[in-house]
Amino acid sequence: MELGNPVTSLKGVGPELAKKFAVLGVHTVEDLINHWPRRYDDYSNVQPIAEIRPGTVTVKVQIKQATGRYVRRGMHITEALASDDTGSVRLIWFNQPYRAGALKPGSEYFVSGNYQLSRQRFSILNPSAELVSDFPINTARIIPIYPETKGLKSNQIRRVLREVISTTGQLPEILPEWLRAKTKLMPRGQAVTELHFPSSVEAFARAKQSLAFEEVFILCLSSLLTSREMLTEPALRIPFKEALAKAFVGSLSFDLTTAQRKVVWQIYQDLDRDHPMNRLVEGDVGSGKTVVAAMAALMAIEQGFQVALMAPTELLARQHADTIYKLLEPVGQADTVALLVGGLKPAQKRAAQERIASGEVRFMVGTQALIQEKVDMDKLGLVVIDEQHRFGVDQRNKLQKKAGHMPHVLSMTATPIPRSLALTLYGELDISLLDELPAGRKPVITKLVSPNSTATMYKSIDKEIERGRQVYVVCPIIKESDALAVKSAEQTFETLRKGPFKHRRVGLLHGRMKPDEKDRIMQQFIAHELDILVSTTVIEVGVNVPNATVMVIEGAERFGLAQAHQLRGRVCRSDDQGYCYLVMSDSKQPSQRLRALEQMTDGFKLAELDLELRGPGAIYGTLQHGELDLRIAKLSDTKLIEAARKAAQAFIDREDTLKSYPELARAVNNVRSITRLD
Ligand code: ADP
Ligand code: MG
Repeated sequence: MELGNPVTSLKGVGPELAKKFAVLGVHTVEDLINHWPRRYDDYSNVQPIAEIRPGTVTVKVQIKQATGRYVRRGMHITEALASDDTGSVRLIWFNQPYRAGALKPGSEYFVSGNYQLSRQRFSILNPSAELVSDFPINTARIIPIYPETKGLKSNQIRRVLREVISTTGQLPEILPEWLRAKTKLMPRGQAVTELHFPSSVEAFARAKQSLAFEEVFILCLSSLLTSREMLTEPALRIPFKEALAKAFVGSLSFDLTTAQRKVVWQIYQDLDRDHPMNRLVEGDVGSGKTVVAAMAALMAIEQGFQVALMAPTELLARQHADTIYKLLEPVGQADTVALLVGGLKPAQKRAAQERIASGEVRFMVGTQALIQEKVDMDKLGLVVIDEQHRFGVDQRNKLQKKAGHMPHVLSMTATPIPRSLALTLYGELDISLLDELPAGRKPVITKLVSPNSTATMYKSIDKEIERGRQVYVVCPIIKESDALAVKSAEQTFETLRKGPFKHRRVGLLHGRMKPDEKDRIMQQFIAHELDILVSTTVIEVGVNVPNATVMVIEGAERFGLAQAHQLRGRVCRSDDQGYCYLVMSDSKQPSQRLRALEQMTDGFKLAELDLELRGPGAIYGTLQHGELDLRIAKLSDTKLIEAARKAAQAFIDREDTLKSYPELARAVNNVRSITRLD
């Protein structure tokens, strides 16, 4: 059997099953062995019946007889008596009518399941059972649980995997031999075998350690290579002009925070070099990132360079264009700003492009599509990316082709990235923290609300509206479809408008609306022609309406901590006290996550917690290309991460080149081709 064979070449895998495997991204034998378990159940402890205690147990037994019956409509029970030398135990399966026929009386089985009280008797409920063999796959060992799909469960995946597991011997090594020897890694094929079918607790631990090391090494090497390349690339040097910076700061209606001053200074030093800046500014929502971006841009445009600012949505791009226009007006640079978004009319777009061509417009504000626009980028000195962590290699290459040089890049994010994660994933970035909110900001008061006590909440909210404040109501994220989210927003809108807030002005905003319409509603909210804005998560990042002081998050349990924290930041934009209500979908006990959100206001601490509870995917959403998710390594394993980083640095210091390691090159390029992270 070859790694490249299609799964249909395997025994028992017909076109139907192949389709289900395809849903999981598994097409070939190689894909199958790269389909790694999500978690494990430990059934390795085979005990005599006399010694089992309530909980997860595994026994080696003879099954005496098995009988099935319907106890009532729609409820089938299979019961069997199992025994060994030390005693006997009852096995019960619910709604698995085929069970009785499938068990062979008198044969010896491994049985694993939950030993617990059921109808006043201790039994093993819904156990896995398989004939005793040298290589059990569903019982009597540490059992892998895989990412599954409808009609394709882990036991089936295990069965097919058992047939191909010997092909792991064909897996090439990825890491250089000198490194493998030094770090005593398990051979790759063996490690992958252990991952699917652990032979012992120790071997399994070593296998995970080896694969985790490999995973982090590849990530670290990728970012080190990127940063090394950046050092050799030319950039347009943007000299620092002190008088200009002073004039701008003097024109502001507020004093910069110390953190803002520090970060702007770092940026000015970066810009004043021949090599591109690659800096990430992390600052909690409301920490004032826009002013920082405007100051960076000002230094560039005043000296004739071009600047492109890219926001994640058109809505935000429009808002940024407005804000920046106002910020630059007092220093006489407002006319250099133009909005370039898909929603513009052809004539508007043409006009903007003409003004860019003539050099009048030098500060372009738009979405990701900006770099695809037909604008002349000869003098592109600086790119600002809002609410994104970094530029992927693809985007960089595109820009470089277009501009002929690498612009300075400033990324800004309100998603706090825990240090361990930043070091691993963003090794090529210089990171600045805006770790201070403008003076006078009060932490948002957060309250958990059960669905049957919303009346009190509505009353408090109405008081805020009475005081002239405004309110956001965000409807839950519904994974399956955007349409459902829209529907839930529409429903909430109707309920509020006809019920508790019929005397108030309520607006609705969702992702399916046309850009003009979205813009109109947003403008109404900004102009305080609306008291309440009901929306899907389109307002999640960056929206700035200082007069809004209340955030209601419906279906709060569906949101990640980081994301809910982002939303909450929308109502902490002035000296007024902000309130955030986390409305739960049911009146069950709130989860640890929700309670943390209620009690903690530090975005970084929340991000660390989210990372621990749900892994990096939770913070960054579904990674676009899926590959960058750490599958094995734990980000809390700082020792391993440190070792892998050192090894990656050693690789660079040896002046080793990827060319000598084609498999490593493939893995590294895969990581580097990921274009965006959120
Ligand atoms: P974010 O970091 O979330 O992008 P913004 O840049 O949108 O935050 O700023 C939030 C609000 O705080 C804006 O209304 C902005 O004008 C204001 N702001 C920014 N810096 C300061 C400061 N140093 N003092 C007072 N207000 C500030
Ligand atoms: Mg912002």
